[in-house]
Amino acid sequence: MLQANQKEISKDKLRAEFSKNPEKYYSTETFKEKGFKRQKCSICGKWFWAIAETNNCGDSSHTPYSFFKEKPERISYTDFWKKFSGFFRRNGHAIIKRYPVVSRWRQDLYFTIAGIQDFQRIENGLMSFEYSANPLLVPQPCLRFKDIENVGVTGNHFTTFVMANQTSFNYPREGYWRDRTIELNFNFLTKVLGIEPEEIKYSEDVWAMPDFSEFGPSLEFFSKGAELGNNVFTQFELAEGRIRELEGKVVDTGWGFERELWFYTGLNTAYDAVFGQVLDKVQNELNMELDTEFYSKFAKYGGALNRDEVKNVADAEKRVLQMAKIAPRDYERKIKPMQAIYALLDHTRTLLFAITDGSLPSNVGGGYNLRVLLRRSFDFIEEYGLRIDIRTLAELIAADLKPMYPELSTKHDIIEKVVNVERDRYEHAKESAKKAVEVLLEKGKSISKEQMRTLYESHGATPELIAKVAADRKVKLDLPDGSYTAIVQGDMVKRGRENESRRISLPKNLPPTKKLYYDFATRSRSKVLFAKDNYFVLDKTPFYPEGGGQVADAGTVDGKEIKDVQKVGDIIVHFTEKNSGLKKGEIVDAIVDEERRNAVIAHHTATHLISAAARRVLGDHAWQEGARKEAHKAHIDIAHYEKLSEENVKAIETMVNAWLFNGIRVHAEEMSRGEAEGRYGFSIYQGHGAPAKRMRIVTIRDREGKLIDAEACGGLHAVGRENLLGIVCIIDTARIHDGIDRIEFVAGPAALKRFEAMHKELDDLARAFNVDPLLVGKKIKEQQEELRALHKQVEKGNELIADSIAELIQDAEVIERELDVDRKTLIKIADLLVKRNNESIVLLRNRYGHVICMAGSASGKSAAEFLNSKLKGQRFSGGGSRRFAEAKIEQKQAQ
Ligand SMILES: [Zn+2]
Ligand SMILES: [Zn+2]
Repeated sequence: MLQANQKEISKDKLRAEFSKNPEKYYSTETFKEKGFKRQKCSICGKWFWAIAETNNCGDSSHTPYSFFKEKPERISYTDFWKKFSGFFRRNGHAIIKRYPVVSRWRQDLYFTIAGIQDFQRIENGLMSFEYSANPLLVPQPCLRFKDIENVGVTGNHFTTFVMANQTSFNYPREGYWRDRTIELNFNFLTKVLGIEPEEIKYSEDVWAMPDFSEFGPSLEFFSKGAELGNNVFTQFELAEGRIRELEGKVVDTGWGFERELWFYTGLNTAYDAVFGQVLDKVQNELNMELDTEFYSKFAKYGGALNRDEVKNVADAEKRVLQMAKIAPRDYERKIKPMQAIYALLDHTRTLLFAITDGSLPSNVGGGYNLRVLLRRSFDFIEEYGLRIDIRTLAELIAADLKPMYPELSTKHDIIEKVVNVERDRYEHAKESAKKAVEVLLEKGKSISKEQMRTLYESHGATPELIAKVAADRKVKLDLPDGSYTAIVQGDMVKRGRENESRRISLPKNLPPTKKLYYDFATRSRSKVLFAKDNYFVLDKTPFYPEGGGQVADAGTVDGKEIKDVQKVGDIIVHFTEKNSGLKKGEIVDAIVDEERRNAVIAHHTATHLISAAARRVLGDHAWQEGARKEAHKAHIDIAHYEKLSEENVKAIETMVNAWLFNGIRVHAEEMSRGEAEGRYGFSIYQGHGAPAKRMRIVTIRDREGKLIDAEACGGLHAVGRENLLGIVCIIDTARIHDGIDRIEFVAGPAALKRFEAMHKELDDLARAFNVDPLLVGKKIKEQQEELRALHKQVEKGNELIADSIAELIQDAEVIERELDVDRKTLIKIADLLVKRNNESIVLLRNRYGHVICMAGSASGKSAAEFLNSKLKGQRFSGGGSRRFAEAKIEQKQAQ
């Protein structure tokens, strides 16, 4: 195999390498049997396989689409899924349910952007696969935001698309490899999609993770100009600078479901294929007339407006209108409103998935892009006077998708609330946005991408709004092409610092570590299986590794303090400060700090209760956005479209304590994913728990057995030790981002500690005031009153002093004095003196190091300069203006 290091490796090099040996990396039984010949593309130079002799690999950039049909097939989205999945079911695949689009189990991504992500688990820099069936097919909705401007225009761009992943894991131990993959692929294309074998082309390519940690050859398949999918054979890994063959190889064929449906129907645009039934209802129920007939004149050329490929959008539009024989006026009047409706359908579908799965529009994180979408939707509705409201549209889409995704039909009230709050917020922001745009327009007739980003981030101005302000002011404005790429945030956003992974290397053959912590064990006699530098692995351990927002256990192993514990796949790794000195085979005593752990357990279980109470008080949208459970305190971040009110917080705290006082029961149980979702719904993914074949579900019930909360969670909980929670006390709340509130709290042992500390503080105060602790507040109020009265007297006295001192000082052009009064009185005196004679300059100081300088309006002198000249050579801080300056001299001895 190839020899390469990470710097030299590239997809082009790998492709060339694999293509040198097609028999080994690309050829299949099906190719031989059906008479596919390997050929070289005269346009791009790639090798490809086709039955007919041709010199064109079939890539969409070489060949225009030719799959449009005179009489398009009419089939609904979900019926096509039945047809699509039926083929794979008949061929031994399990059809599994989708995963959430909010990718909480991945620290590096906000949203699910590819189907294979469902099964990838990355822990401490190492990737493993977790799958519930093999082989399988999953209709996974993926959210991507980089093509927003293309959505509605090109006919085939979406912000949500369903990736149907046909996946076979762990070959050769399980699953299938290339021959079976291409056999299935060929049969699907010819029998389900009805493509003639001569119309199918497979091109040799390479797929790789961005860092080449995993990669392999791939066979992309095309027909009639359309790229229909990619068969990826993940075969190699790059580890420690060396390329190795994977022990368990993975086949992943990604079918863009929208694309397949579009191809199958032969309709003008993918939007008509995907949203056809919804569009009919929009016309009927919203009483809108859509001139789809006229739109079809334009539809075939939409792809030529792809913002990724055209340099100048206006020129491209001109060309397209000429080709399509459409007058510019009709483009504005008939085509653009249709494009807006297509975009609205797409944007609403994305919001529907995201909000259902627990994300909300905001100004940070994943919610950032959702707000961009929503504002763009508001702009379209206003611009074209569309009689569409987003809630109704969401209902129509959810109803259309119900057979595949019934959960989408459950969140309409929340969507309406969110849309209303967001619309008000946008209306509010618009005024300041318009002003900001106007300021820029006064300066010039172009706006850079940088400025666009600032306009959006600081004022919420969308490109549509900017264009509108310009049009209203009759300014012909040049907006940069790809304005939305300047605004939206990329997919691969790191979420906080949690992602910082420790690069460690472990031997391949380590067995899974036996976990003792779920049984509350705090000690064990364990055997060292591996030790290197400052980390080591035991055969069994009582130490809980950091995970799901719960800190790792602390304690000792053979007297050495454990600084951190991390999980890598099935293996638990312990870290010490310095080289542990442990040797493989040694028997050691592992001891967990039990008191600290109990405090963490109380906080973890309390987090579930607060999350449950928040959903009851605020609504089902109040998903947990993050949490941290330490020994001395904990916090939970909760999504809400408005800032939490004091009443909200009190209601949450009261509810949790009512549950606790009445008695709760905590239970942890392993069950299958289907059972867990069926029993408890999608909200089990509140925390970082990922869908998996077997899941640990933590439930909390009240004394009567009524369910309070159910979550997929691998953390430690007060199972059978419910009394550990005692009482929960919310100590602080803060809006950490727009859309997310943080609730800081203590529970159980930490709450007790806090009460004790508060009690002591209060006792000390009570003793100092010589009153009962409960009367301290009253006492303080009284004293404050007294103090205030005293203060007034002092002020009065000082004024009198100032007056008399000022009178005693002889008038002069320059007055310099040291006086035994405070700073405020110095200022008062100086003020009286320059008022008496506005030609004088006055410099006063006291023994505390305060220096005041004031120059009369007719003195012709600068107070700041005078003060500086007088203090030359001394260390001081201060400054001022022409009329007034002051300084504080740094004094050596105490005052
Ligand atoms: Zn080519
Ligand atoms: Zn948990």
